[in-house]
Amino acid sequence: MKDLKMKLTSITKGIGILFTLFFCVLILKSCQNNSGLIASVEEFNKATADVKPGDKFILANGIWKNAELKLKGDGTPDQPIILSVETKGGVTLEGQSSISISGKHIVLEGLVFKNGYTPSSEVISFRTSKKDLCNNCRVTECVIDNYNNPERFESDYWVGIYGKDNRFDHNYLTGKRNQGVTLAVRMNTEASRENNNRIDHNYFGHRPVLGSNGGETLRIGTSHYSMSNSNTLVEVNYFDRCNGEHEIISNKACQSVFRNNTFFECQGTLTMRHGNETLVENNYFFGNRKANTGGVRIINETQTVMNNYCEGLTGYRFRGALVIMNGVPNSPLNRYFQVIDSEASNNTFIDCDHIQLCAGSDSERSATPQNTKVFNNLFYSKNKKNVFTVYDDISGIEFKNNVLSENMEPFQKNGFLKEYIDLVRNENGLLLPKSLETKDIGMTVVGEIATPKNTGVNWYPRNEETIVFNSGKIIKVEPGVNTLGKAVNTSKAGDIIELQAGGQYISSKAIDVTHPLTIKADGKNKPVMKFRRTSLFNIENGGSLNLSNLTFEGEECDDKPNNTVIRTSRYSMSRNYKLLIDNCDVNNLDVNHSFSFLKIYKNTFADSISITNTSFNNVTGHILSLDKETDDIGIYNVENVVLNNCSFKDIGGTVLNLHRGGRDESTFGPILEMNKCRLINVGKDKRNKSRSSVNLHGVQYAEIMDCDFGNSRPLKIHLVVGEPVTKMKNCKFEKTEKIVTNDGSYDKDIIQYLN
Ligand code: CA
Repeated sequence: MKDLKMKLTSITKGIGILFTLFFCVLILKSCQNNSGLIASVEEFNKATADVKPGDKFILANGIWKNAELKLKGDGTPDQPIILSVETKGGVTLEGQSSISISGKHIVLEGLVFKNGYTPSSEVISFRTSKKDLCNNCRVTECVIDNYNNPERFESDYWVGIYGKDNRFDHNYLTGKRNQGVTLAVRMNTEASRENNNRIDHNYFGHRPVLGSNGGETLRIGTSHYSMSNSNTLVEVNYFDRCNGEHEIISNKACQSVFRNNTFFECQGTLTMRHGNETLVENNYFFGNRKANTGGVRIINETQTVMNNYCEGLTGYRFRGALVIMNGVPNSPLNRYFQVIDSEASNNTFIDCDHIQLCAGSDSERSATPQNTKVFNNLFYSKNKKNVFTVYDDISGIEFKNNVLSENMEPFQKNGFLKEYIDLVRNENGLLLPKSLETKDIGMTVVGEIATPKNTGVNWYPRNEETIVFNSGKIIKVEPGVNTLGKAVNTSKAGDIIELQAGGQYISSKAIDVTHPLTIKADGKNKPVMKFRRTSLFNIENGGSLNLSNLTFEGEECDDKPNNTVIRTSRYSMSRNYKLLIDNCDVNNLDVNHSFSFLKIYKNTFADSISITNTSFNNVTGHILSLDKETDDIGIYNVENVVLNNCSFKDIGGTVLNLHRGGRDESTFGPILEMNKCRLINVGKDKRNKSRSSVNLHGVQYAEIMDCDFGNSRPLKIHLVVGEPVTKMKNCKFEKTEKIVTNDGSYDKDIIQYLN
């Protein structure tokens, strides 16, 4: 009996085991049928070797390093193929990772790319080969965060959309710092034209100034295929400080639609660069009076710009609130087509500084706008009387029923009415008139407004890296040898290093600065900094320096040429840096020839370099030589230079050599403010090739006021591109050659002398 029981039990057990095994096999089988958790690239490749409609692939949480994923398959509308993640935010692709997909009805969601860069030309690609494209695919809730090639001018796209009927929505793309469009809709084959792609509810985060062409956030098409229809719809996206270059969006196709997008403090414009029949409606541009913020730029035929809201935009020329360009007669595809049959109507402009008409007019761009309407727009300005600039024959633009606030002056009477306008801010943050006598003027809210809330993803933090000096702790450092270097090495971003007033700090090693750092004296008496290597501070990628109340002495340096107090990284820097110097003395950089104060390298870019209340004495080289981009393709090294209340005495090289070469018009800078500076015996060393004391080449805006040049080489100004502004006031030149300008042209041709 007992035996039988045992036998029965063991049979039952056996059946149980068999069942368990059977289910295990089933589960395994279903794993193979692609609904389990995938934990490695190998598993991914195996699982996706044969993809069927309805397959769902889920990546396991963790860091996926150097994962180049490729997914090909044809789903159906009812049974899409899904690639997702175990937990949103739990899967990060790092190192050299990328993903490409092709086929039909694929949904990709939840991937995060950070801490690395794409090994190929795109991070997320809607194709797996030139022929294998996506149709009816969707990429949603993905994040690309500072995923930058360390080589600043190694170009890549973060997202390349190919094929038709695709959707790219609710993604968060932030911090693109290397060259190349953030999101490109490609139209390079027939299969990608008339594509009906939809780009919606994405959050495009901060894109810092690139200092070159190729910093667009969104581009549709290229000049080559710009006469084909894209039929791409771009709606309800939020653009947050997309400042890469002056095209926030570069449309290069016909029949694209941009609507209900918000542009927050973006330096640049939505540009209809090539192609016709574009519709730009119900968009919101908030400049908050930030420099270079713009609206919409019209080029080409049958363009419609209606019912948009623009407020606080300060940009001029190509980044005005509304820019209507001149074209090139019989323009080649890559130049500027004439504006014909276009329209800007029912737009509202509140406190916008510049409306640019026939912009870009020159000997090449001589074709003025034709048969174009500017109707029913509202212009309100609190302080600015005249916001219109007319660069050429305006007779091809008809103005009708535009209303100006009472204090404003139109450039012509025809088509403009003045009215008292009482504005009130509504629940959406828009300043709109309470009522108007003239009917149907300006914009009205239609549809959804893109906000930080209804765009991007809600599960990924929007932290951002901005250079914030003085946000950390105070570190007190004793005088001595290498005490400063040790303190810098253990410091954190934003820290303040305080040196003892009057103390002596000697560095026998160069100090690498890898984050924003302030170094200053704890009292009035300036500490003295001496160094023995070829440089004292090296600003490496991510580093920025704020120095105040210090003395720098060059006397202990090696007796070799080319020493420098501060230099940038010798390698490419993807992160822009800042260098602020205030109330310092710099003496005796003269142990050998070509000893400079700041030395920069190619492929580095400063947001700003500011020197104030500082004296320089006995320097054999240059103070600021910002001229290392010599390819003359519009790339330059610094956006803003400020020299205020400084003295420069016995300087062998230049005080400032600021260079932007070539004729490219994609960027804003450099911008120079030089006030209350005294130059005595500057620029006369035989190694100073420019034979000048200050050499400005291609500088877009320069203001030189209350400066004295004594016994020095001349000020040289060479301006070729854009409409550069050079203002001078109250400058003296004693025993100094007169200003040298382009090809010896008379200085009054290019300099505005103010009283
Ligand atoms: Ca561009």
